[in-house]
Amino acid sequence: MPGTADARTDRLALHGGRPVRERPFPSRVLFGEEAERLVVRTLRSGWLYGPGGPMTASLERRFAELYGAAHAVACSSGTAAIHLALAALDFEPGSEIITAPITDAGTIVPIIYQHGIPVFADVDEHYGMDPADVERKITDRTAAVLVVHLFGGGSDMRGIRRVADRHGLPVLEDCSQAHVTRLDGHYLGRWGHLGAFSLQQAKHMTTGDGGVVITDDETSAERMRLFRDKGWERGRHGARSYPLLGLNYRMTELQAAVGIPQIAGVRAVVERRGALGARLGRRVGAVDGLRPHTPVPGCEHSYWLFAFEVDGWDAAEFAAALSAEGVPAAPGYTGKPVYECMSALAEQQTFGSSGYPFSGGGGRPPVSYGPGLCPAAEEVLRRQITVWPNEAFAEEDIDDLAAAIEKVATLLPRTLSG
Ligand SMILES: *Cc1c(COP(=O)(O)O)cnc(C)c1O
Repeated sequence: MPGTADARTDRLALHGGRPVRERPFPSRVLFGEEAERLVVRTLRSGWLYGPGGPMTASLERRFAELYGAAHAVACSSGTAAIHLALAALDFEPGSEIITAPITDAGTIVPIIYQHGIPVFADVDEHYGMDPADVERKITDRTAAVLVVHLFGGGSDMRGIRRVADRHGLPVLEDCSQAHVTRLDGHYLGRWGHLGAFSLQQAKHMTTGDGGVVITDDETSAERMRLFRDKGWERGRHGARSYPLLGLNYRMTELQAAVGIPQIAGVRAVVERRGALGARLGRRVGAVDGLRPHTPVPGCEHSYWLFAFEVDGWDAAEFAAALSAEGVPAAPGYTGKPVYECMSALAEQQTFGSSGYPFSGGGGRPPVSYGPGLCPAAEEVLRRQITVWPNEAFAEEDIDDLAAAIEKVATLLPRTLSG
């Protein structure tokens, strides 16, 4: 019954009722006049190539300053950034990298291309890796711990560092979803030896595609600069020297020009998202059967996504009902843990028919991946729903989002036993 006072609340849009939200939600405003100015200046300069260009150097300097890091190394994507960080470690083929089961493939692919074996540590209630499970997964082949700060809610870095330090292991942080997010007063990305960031379109700041790694370690920074540039030692004439095996993961000047102006504003983006996410979290947390994602104690939440768990509902049904109310929603972020999503892991479809590096040999046991590896992560994904407010939302937009969630929770039958 369009037009009546309670038509928005008495029947699900899925069943012909009026949606809570009929207008689209606001889009992000990412690029202003400063970005335009720098892009045009770069085009007119005729020099789009990162090496020797002013924009990439400036982006690196400002990014390092923002995080208080000695070095920032820019590259072509978040995946490339993680590859740089792993390559800097120079671990032996067949080494194990302990990492997170709920993440983008971009965390995992570089491990395999560095001939490493991903080993998954299960998550705690904040979706970060559980330090106790990290410790259980350590073997004499472990080379590093690669943490993922899912959705911007941080991970227990004190616990993870304590375990890693005890075993003499370097810690890498995948901060793709957690730009300028403080844990106990220090930014994520500064708790490990290396912090990798994605500047892909959807991230807190973006160059369309792009990545950066920060570190205080001079040797790692130098290795990463070589690795992203085919291992090429520049600055000499005549016979070339490639002292390191690397790829071409360079950032271009156009990417850097777009990114530079956002460095000064990304903290405001995170703070705004934090305030909006907290507002939504209070409403969702008050509904029986719903549990909003909370950051690890002492951590801010930068709300790359807003996630909540449903108890008693089928997450796919709940998400469909919510989407019908005009609030785009998806069940379970990636749906399944990354080890079930990637054929490279689940079916060992890696290099030809070799199954390398999972097939064993060279003193290594064969490895296989499948359901049951990380029960907590699998359970979280079964119950989880994600929605994606952004910093351009007004409080009223958040309130519509909350009202839609409340409506679905009220009217959609709970068909599961919890
Ligand atoms: C986005 C993302 C990546 C990969 O970044 P790309 O820039 O798309 O290569 C890696 N890890 C996480 C957690 C991400 O969200």
